[in-house]
Amino acid sequence: MTFIQAVLEFTCEAPVAQLDRVPDYESVGCAFESRRAHFDTMSILDVSKEDERWMRVALMEAEAALEEGEVPVGCVIVKNGLLIGRGHNRVETLKDPTAHAEILALTAAAIKLANWRLTGATVYITLEPCLMCTGALVLARPKRVVFASPDPKFGCLGSQYDIAGDNRFNHRFAVTAGVLLAESATLLRNFFKIQRQLKKGRA
Ligand SMILES: [Zn+2]
Repeated sequence: MTFIQAVLEFTCEAPVAQLDRVPDYESVGCAFESRRAHFDTMSILDVSKEDERWMRVALMEAEAALEEGEVPVGCVIVKNGLLIGRGHNRVETLKDPTAHAEILALTAAAIKLANWRLTGATVYITLEPCLMCTGALVLARPKRVVFASPDPKFGCLGSQYDIAGDNRFNHRFAVTAGVLLAESATLLRNFFKIQRQLKKGRA
């Protein structure tokens, strides 16, 4: 069984959703032992491999967005080796400008932990977060944010702004960019290519 199959197998129903828009979130408590065992045998030098593994799960979320006709962006949140929140862009489906992958994943993680402070968590996103999502990340206080593709138009972790490097905010997190960049960029490029073709077809 692959890592991603294992993650999906442990998807459980959300017991109580505080918000209707929150997608089913991961309850991977049942996966705890096996993930722990994995961590015990994993080399500390293997951290980037771990980043790639979680980014692949975020890419699966992005693919789910694509299947729903949304801009393909996905996000997963991990703490102590466990998936505590996941989400994908649902702006069109929910007709909600705030329904970005990160916001939905942050809300799911906060419900899961029963705590809005995501202290010690790592957030994996397939695209550099926008101004709204970067603000939400600062408020949620994760220890690290990892993203795949930069977003020159809206990105706020180095592109348009570098919020994580701004010491005027009361929380700062480490940022790693470019993990599985090619995969994320291909997904986005294909989406916009299809959109353009559809527009041409309608013209
Ligand atoms: Zn956003």
